[in-house]
Amino acid sequence: MTTLITNIQELLQVRETSIAKVSGSEMAKLPTIKNAFLILKDNLIEDFGSMDNLPKINADQIIDATGKVVLPSWCDSHTHIVYAGNREQEFVDRINGLSYEEIANRGGGILNSAKKLNDSSEEEIYEQSKIRLEEVMHLGTGAVEIKSGYGLTVDGELKMLRVIQKLAENYPIAIKATFLGAHAFPLHYKDDKAGYLDEIINEMLPEISKNKLADYVDVFCESGYFSVEETEKIMEAGLAFGLKPKIHVNQFNSIGGIQAGVKFNALSVDHLEVMNPEDIQALKDTETMPVALPSCSYFLSIPYTPAREMIKAGLPLA
Ligand SMILES: [Zn+2]
Repeated sequence: MTTLITNIQELLQVRETSIAKVSGSEMAKLPTIKNAFLILKDNLIEDFGSMDNLPKINADQIIDATGKVVLPSWCDSHTHIVYAGNREQEFVDRINGLSYEEIANRGGGILNSAKKLNDSSEEEIYEQSKIRLEEVMHLGTGAVEIKSGYGLTVDGELKMLRVIQKLAENYPIAIKATFLGAHAFPLHYKDDKAGYLDEIINEMLPEISKNKLADYVDVFCESGYFSVEETEKIMEAGLAFGLKPKIHVNQFNSIGGIQAGVKFNALSVDHLEVMNPEDIQALKDTETMPVALPSCSYFLSIPYTPAREMIKAGLPLA
């Protein structure tokens, strides 16, 4: 099946060769072709260029894109769209002046989501989550990563990952699953952190690996959550099960999470609202992709990732 798109007003993000990433000042360049064509064969791009060079082909389908732009779909590398219920009450708490930390200490935040998730059936969670996935797709996203992390129990985490797997089976969008059992310490492990680490490493990870339920392993490396040492232990265990790390770091404090991520060759370090010069330096010339989450800053009223500073330093940024 061959599809020809003609008269494209502007074709975006065209490159002669395939590249893994763009960094620093290169990010300001967006290669485009005006008045372009694009040829697809069996859903893969076969050719593109200026309409002046349009080859003679017998297309099965021709789409006239006069006055329209053609661009790649979005790729969302960090989402939590599988969850149960909502945390609307926490907007009121924040308006009343409570911080993220104070809300968390009252059993809100992640632990509140975990309670709701563990009280919901797999079917209920699937039904709620598929609506959000459909919204994401309608907004032009063509590939999405989805995390667990609201179970914080063996059953809850596996339940979330099975929902992600079912979404991947039922929807025509590329989905990667990330295991985030280390999102917070559940209440019953509040005074036994080593016990929860043991559950993650020796109970959750083997079961996830056996059932091929995740592509990546994630940790919330932050004061009051998982220390750098605990984060390293989980990344190491994840790697042993073939799960590459991508981790939450530097959201509220810079405690060395970026350096730990780089050390374990993490695919990405995400959040980065609080960045020291050493943190930016540590990311230079590494395979680890820095990821900013500006809508999280907006949602929580916390500082934004110093994106311009990082790009100026020559880093790539997702
Ligand atoms: Zn996150």
